[in-house]
Amino acid sequence: MQIQALLQELYERYQGLAEGNVARYIPELARFDPKLFAIGIMTTSGDFYGIGDVEQHFTLQSMSKPFTYGLVLEERGRDEVLRYVGVEPTGQSFNSIILDEKSGRAYNPMVNSGAIAVASLIRGADAAERSKRMLHMFSQYAGRALTFDLPTFLSERENGHRNRAIAHLMKNFNMLEGDLNEALELYFQQCSVLVNIKDIATMAATLAHRGINPITQQQALQPKYVRDILSVMLTCGMYDMSGWWAYRIGIPSKSGVSGGIWGVVPNRMGIAVFSPPLNEHGHSVRGIQVFTDLADQLRLHVFEVLDNL
Ligand code: GLU
Repeated sequence: MQIQALLQELYERYQGLAEGNVARYIPELARFDPKLFAIGIMTTSGDFYGIGDVEQHFTLQSMSKPFTYGLVLEERGRDEVLRYVGVEPTGQSFNSIILDEKSGRAYNPMVNSGAIAVASLIRGADAAERSKRMLHMFSQYAGRALTFDLPTFLSERENGHRNRAIAHLMKNFNMLEGDLNEALELYFQQCSVLVNIKDIATMAATLAHRGINPITQQQALQPKYVRDILSVMLTCGMYDMSGWWAYRIGIPSKSGVSGGIWGVVPNRMGIAVFSPPLNEHGHSVRGIQVFTDLADQLRLHVFEVLDNL
């Protein structure tokens, strides 16, 4: 079946689904219309298929975490990053405050603790340089100059008490490098990067394509780190629903409280869904349905047994 026709079918199938709640912890997320719905697929050959509210912008939130993880892997190498952040699933929610008891490390870079530790490792002479470097990295994945949404950043900063608590705890264990507030600011900035569905599908497709943006052909990430990111996404990307996601959908994916989910089908495509209402685990309700059907209909599960082999 043609991809565009399939997207149309999925859009119509789930447009009327009215379950879940839009995130309410900051006004910038609460204002989103629950009816907004977009699906995008970018192939590794650079063909884009989109349906629904493709012009709508939304913030990356936790969808940013795999990319910053890639940035510090490149800057510091695997061993150094592993000293600060592990690769074990928590079985807990995104804002879990628990750290590995023996080492004091964050469990993995997909939960907030790990992502804040990762942000603290971004290199640069000062806060401005680190911020610029981070935004440049996101822009390379997207293939255009991305920007931060200032109101979202300011709200996250004002309301991020739990993230501050987590950062203090990690600082106590020396698991956060440099200035704690700077690490938090960088984390809030990465959460407030603005994208549309094509951007995020392109960012996903870049990871499906050896770290090379399929449109601009620019290298956003060294190929050797692609598998590090994807394996952590498969085991930890969907928080306390990661086991079910790996079992039922089998596409390394990452969600964000803005209502987006993106996933990577290595060597084939990047998939992105945006729809603000979330389930109790913080994942887009329509997003879960669309990913489930795409995995089944296009046989995208990483462990799918293909008949013609
Ligand atoms: N800004 C959110 C937080 O740190 C991101 C959570 C998410 O997207 O899962 O609480």
